[in-house]
Amino acid sequence: MNILQTDIQFVPGVGPKRASVLNKEIDIFTLEDLLRYYPYRYVDRSRLFYVHEIEGSMPYVQLKGRITAFETFGEGRKKRLVAHFTDGTGFVDLVWFQGIRFIGSKYKVNVEYIVFGKPSLFNNKYNIAHPDIEVSPSADYRPEGLFAYYNTTEAMKRNYINSKGLNKMMESAFGMLRKRLPESLPANVIDAVKLIPLHDALENIHFPKSPLLLRDSEFRLKFEELFFIQLNILQYSANRKAKLNGFVFSKVGDYLHSFYAKHLPFELTNAQKRVIKEIRGDTASGKQMNRLLQGDVGSGKTLVALMMMLIAMDNGYQACLMAPTEILASQHFETFKKTLADMDVSVALLTGSTRKKERETLHAKLLAGEINILIGTHALIEDTVNFGNLGFVVIDEQHRFGVAQRAKLWSKNDRPPHVLVMTATPIPRTLAMTVYGDLDVSVIDELPPGRKPVQTGHRYEQKRGAMYQFLRNEIKKGRQAYIVFPLIEESEKIDLQNLEDGYLRISELFPEYKICKMHGRMKPAEKEEEMRKFVANEAQIMVSTTVIEVGVDVPNASLMIIESAQRFGLSQLHQLRGRVGRGADQSYCILVTPYELSSDTRKRMEIMTETNDGFIIAEADLKLRGPGDLEGTQQSGIPFNLRIADLVRDSKILYHAREIAEQIIEKDPELKLPEHAVLKRQLNRLMGNKYDWGRIS
Ligand code: ADP
Ligand code: MG
Repeated sequence: MNILQTDIQFVPGVGPKRASVLNKEIDIFTLEDLLRYYPYRYVDRSRLFYVHEIEGSMPYVQLKGRITAFETFGEGRKKRLVAHFTDGTGFVDLVWFQGIRFIGSKYKVNVEYIVFGKPSLFNNKYNIAHPDIEVSPSADYRPEGLFAYYNTTEAMKRNYINSKGLNKMMESAFGMLRKRLPESLPANVIDAVKLIPLHDALENIHFPKSPLLLRDSEFRLKFEELFFIQLNILQYSANRKAKLNGFVFSKVGDYLHSFYAKHLPFELTNAQKRVIKEIRGDTASGKQMNRLLQGDVGSGKTLVALMMMLIAMDNGYQACLMAPTEILASQHFETFKKTLADMDVSVALLTGSTRKKERETLHAKLLAGEINILIGTHALIEDTVNFGNLGFVVIDEQHRFGVAQRAKLWSKNDRPPHVLVMTATPIPRTLAMTVYGDLDVSVIDELPPGRKPVQTGHRYEQKRGAMYQFLRNEIKKGRQAYIVFPLIEESEKIDLQNLEDGYLRISELFPEYKICKMHGRMKPAEKEEEMRKFVANEAQIMVSTTVIEVGVDVPNASLMIIESAQRFGLSQLHQLRGRVGRGADQSYCILVTPYELSSDTRKRMEIMTETNDGFIIAEADLKLRGPGDLEGTQQSGIPFNLRIADLVRDSKILYHAREIAEQIIEKDPELKLPEHAVLKRQLNRLMGNKYDWGRIS
């Protein structure tokens, strides 16, 4: 057996009780799990400070001196123990709020100690709360170098496993090894990338012998982590490509030709042409397509989807389009009907509110192939919906759909149909490679001509007057406006109240105009009616929550006011802003916030006012929030968590890892070669019994 798989309880000093805490709290079961529990930070303990050197901005200091006296203050839960400590250059207080009795008996006055901790100023005096204290070993004490700190949970601390305890466990883990740890990467990869051996990397990540070795260790472990994710994705998609035959769309026929010649109201942009070519390449290849189509809001993705659907029909197949909301589904339906008006194409709509009777006829027609294009919400994926011959599936604004829901679409024909996933939420390349690494990606990076970039401004709540004047002027020019309020579940009541207040305020300020209102708690029919009024320009102002965020198209709307903009993430602000600027007029977006803002929030507002580029915004979002938070990534599943690599900072390492993984999979897709046995083992271990991330993205 591989020594790394040793049960954690057998590491000296751990035992069954602490082992079960480690199992439960931080998923540490084996020696390897322990060694791969990396520190989150290092503190330089190679230097001793004098007390008189302490100043407010110091993160940590290490002092050598004596305690002159102990004192306790307060009673009960407010009790604290203070030790007056000096090294001859000044005094500092060491303070404990817990474990007072234990500390009081453990440390003595007039013994030389090394004290380590974070100084802070309290009542004009420096103190160090809960310091690390060690007996100074000898007159010529040699302080440690970089010292590792580990994350711990409350339950761990209750069971006396703190950062230092983990450090001790690491020490005894290395102590129990008789041999060097086995490698997890093949020799040729280690050579090609110039990595240090796994053993040295793990040792130095916990006990850095020098900053240089620490850097090499981090590089080795980051590379390995990203490499296995890429290897996994690439192997999986190579497998799928080898196995899954797709329908072949070999020809272009009357449907597309007549649409192109007679019904296309404008020239395609070059980006649209290029993307259609890429998709056509896939659908003619004999393999099943899984493609992600990225394009900023308004870049014309829907048209691309429509044309591909016509090609599917030219080859005898049906197509469907799934949208995340009823509003969006009906809007697509109307657009399709209008665009295909005098063509012989049968388009149908299926949503949660389609009546039972209607639904039954629809089911029958679908099965008989009498419907060419079905548009709908998630009602589409119900088991009762069966197609005669479904060949092409489009999923719009995909981040609202879970993986499992998407997988259901695959079973709607005996061979899986081609799948095109469309998203306007730009995904930075590093994230796309990691999360959607098995999807091919097409990008529309060009807006249709004549669009003017939306002008964005940041205003304070206290100064709404000028903003409302601006709003009035826009409406006088014949335009329409959105006013958006945040709404999240946790504060739903207050949020809804704010929206109602806002609606009243606007109604009073603009008695001469019609104002509509929309939020998620309204019945679908009500929402539909409010939206209809706005689309038809019967109402000039739409007061709503983010339900309008996705996909709604009202080209005449030229102003968007976002209230409490500080509560939205960057990507969401960008998405919202995409609702204006869809017509030929100059459009505006106003972000409204209070004066007081955190520096991150101020940064977000700045980015929004400076750029309209979705990719720049997505990168910034990733930097400000970290990948875990990005919309859409939570459920799409990186199969194993990133423990050391960072998708923003380590993008170069990621590209390198991808490249090496590609070479290996190209040469040996099933990892059958003897030199790849180690990879197969490691991959299986990493995947473990974690979920099977299925047949789709
Ligand atoms: P997306 O779904 O990418 O946000 P849409 O497909 O809804 O964008 O397109 C936005 C608007 O631009 C629609 O009104 C559409 O008719 C129009 N449009 C699409 N392609 C072009 C083009 N090549 N030239 C001019 N207008 C276009
Ligand atoms: Mg769209």
